[in-house]
Amino acid sequence: MQDSGGGADRAKIALNTWQEIADYLRVSIRAAQIYERDHELPVHRLPGGRARVWAYQEELDAWKRAWEERGRNVPPEPPAELPETAVPDPPAPPKRPRWLVWLLLPLLLGIATVFWILRPGVPTQFRVDDRSLIAEDRNGRVAWRYRFQEPLNPDPYRSSTEGWLKSGDLDGDSATTEFVFRLAPRGTGDVHSERLVAFTAKGKLMWSFTTGRRVKAKRRELSNLYEVNSLAIVPSRKRTPQVAFSANHASAYPNQVGALNGKTGKLEREYWHSGHLLRLGVHDWDRDGEPELILTGVNIGRADATLVMLDPLRMAGASMQPEGDPSQLEGFAPGVEKAVVRFPRSCMARRWGRMNRAARFSVLPGGLEIVVFDGNIESGAYLVYSLDRSLNVVQVDPSPDFSVRHHRQQREGDLDHEYSPNELLELARRVTVTRGR
Ligand SMILES: [Zn+2]
Repeated sequence: MQDSGGGADRAKIALNTWQEIADYLRVSIRAAQIYERDHELPVHRLPGGRARVWAYQEELDAWKRAWEERGRNVPPEPPAELPETAVPDPPAPPKRPRWLVWLLLPLLLGIATVFWILRPGVPTQFRVDDRSLIAEDRNGRVAWRYRFQEPLNPDPYRSSTEGWLKSGDLDGDSATTEFVFRLAPRGTGDVHSERLVAFTAKGKLMWSFTTGRRVKAKRRELSNLYEVNSLAIVPSRKRTPQVAFSANHASAYPNQVGALNGKTGKLEREYWHSGHLLRLGVHDWDRDGEPELILTGVNIGRADATLVMLDPLRMAGASMQPEGDPSQLEGFAPGVEKAVVRFPRSCMARRWGRMNRAARFSVLPGGLEIVVFDGNIESGAYLVYSLDRSLNVVQVDPSPDFSVRHHRQQREGDLDHEYSPNELLELARRVTVTRGR
């Protein structure tokens, strides 16, 4: 190549092949070609398929200076795995190897299929680590992981997943499954209420709701430290599903029952109770197609075991306590319940000044069965109350331990009478049912 242009270019010394360019730079041809491709080495080409190349020494010098000014020497030799044949000198127009495409296509499809099969499936099991919720498919592959800002309190997650995660339709689109998670942040002495957090099937955050708030009783304001003790998804045929929960104060007696909009996490209805309601079930008790909430626990002011039935679309206010009861929550309308059942304390519970407590229950075709413990400890001594569909007591069955303990307490002088099945009839007679609005 001779000078191609006017007088200004005459001073330029041209290098006319890759070999000359490479020799001038004191690198291999391949390195020079890669400098052109990746590092803007000033190499000129004639347009067209079989391009001829040339370069000017002065431009190559300027390129080298620019590199050195940036604190680098000429770029290092490119790694050996770069294809030697990628840039021929001069490059031959590439043939289109169609047969190669047809050969590779099934292979690529095969690889894609393997990835499709091996991709994590829908989440079926969950676990937590220090601050993440991890969803796994049925083969134990991680489908997604959500990291929270705060570390988690490991204790609630030691129990089975049922206690801290529910899956179902939250947004009203029954084609997809969503998840609602009980988020228990690690307490550090600060006030941290537990939250409910909803996720899409793919692990995208839908919403987060903080349970509890400051409430007053006897003009005393109680802190807003609440724990979620139970949660459930409330399906509906007519409207967006709800997430129902029961959250008890961590160190005092108030208990919040809430119904959140499943799609938005907004609190739609709430009901407050003086006493912890630790179990929550969702049943269409009145068979009108829309479910009721059934909760069991204690009423602190009345010192007895309680069952509360609520309509999640209508519940409101706070439980009405006896006149002068210091546990009456203030600033609420009278509670709107569908029904409240109170179970009297047995002679043993009365003797020890203990509350009894309604615990697990099951809804049967003919009614309800409720286990009522004497005292707060889930000992072997309990009574099973059977209620019919109108919530009238039809039967009371003692656990085998009930009469054993009764005999022992009598022997030890704590009870003044022999155990008799008649006292169970007396207890049944004293069960009260308040049917609400
Ligand atoms: Zn007795």
